Amino acid sequence: MRDVIVAANWKMHTTPADAGELARIIDTRTREPGVTRVICPPFVCLASVRDALADAGSDAAVGAQTVHHELAGAYTGEISAPMLEGLATWVIIGHSERRRDAGETDELIGRKLARAVMAGLRPILCVGEQLEERESGDAVDVVARQLRGALAAVDAAAATDARLVIAYEPVWAIGTGRNATGADAAAMADAIRTALGDLGWRDAAADVPILYGGSVTSANIGEFLAEPSIDGALVGGASLKPDELAGIVARAGLTARARGLGA
Ligand code: PEP
Repeated sequence: MRDVIVAANWKMHTTPADAGELARIIDTRTREPGVTRVICPPFVCLASVRDALADAGSDAAVGAQTVHHELAGAYTGEISAPMLEGLATWVIIGHSERRRDAGETDELIGRKLARAVMAGLRPILCVGEQLEERESGDAVDVVARQLRGALAAVDAAAATDARLVIAYEPVWAIGTGRNATGADAAAMADAIRTALGDLGWRDAAADVPILYGGSVTSANIGEFLAEPSIDGALVGGASLKPDELAGIVARAGLTARARGLGA
């Protein structure tokens, strides 16, 4: 049975002075048997979140929001996968804000993914179409192309061992307050599994958890988790609000129980 996962993407919010306290509050408010929780703060807050969660005896994991595609070298301002040892066990790869702002291509995202897998990090690979692509009926082709590009250089067995997670995040839904429908997200999750099968990733196709991301709130999470092919959420804005995240994780707990997880 696939994991039920709620991952919090704090983006460029919080400081080392306040991130630990926010993580502590979130941990207290979101303890749900069977739900895998991941908090992804900015790099500079990884240590304070890690320490706060350890002090609280929490099983919530810590994730980074990206990682460089090389191991080390003359890359001013960058952080490599091995540098995250002891700080993070998960990493978001290929978020649309990095595709947009840092020019990340599918090929580059694939190299980051390979580095993450080699370093033993559990990756959340983000894919998703632009609004024009959805409106022109090209969303499935776009996402399949992103998957082909990102996974071309990644070993299927290694990614399966690393327990790859895929987040379907339609770009037009991120931070806009406009979410996809549960049915559209489920149709895309099915298309992602088909695309993985077409790539020869047959085992992964059934086993990979697929999250929905894009303006998820406590009010709309139920629509996504009612879909058996959706295994959780990647949450941006609402993940900075403990009440909101508590509602989202509580709903995920129902799905986890229905799947017999956390018993
Ligand atoms: C995200 O950052 O991945 C995201 C989905 O953001 P939001 O929930 O704010 O739309």
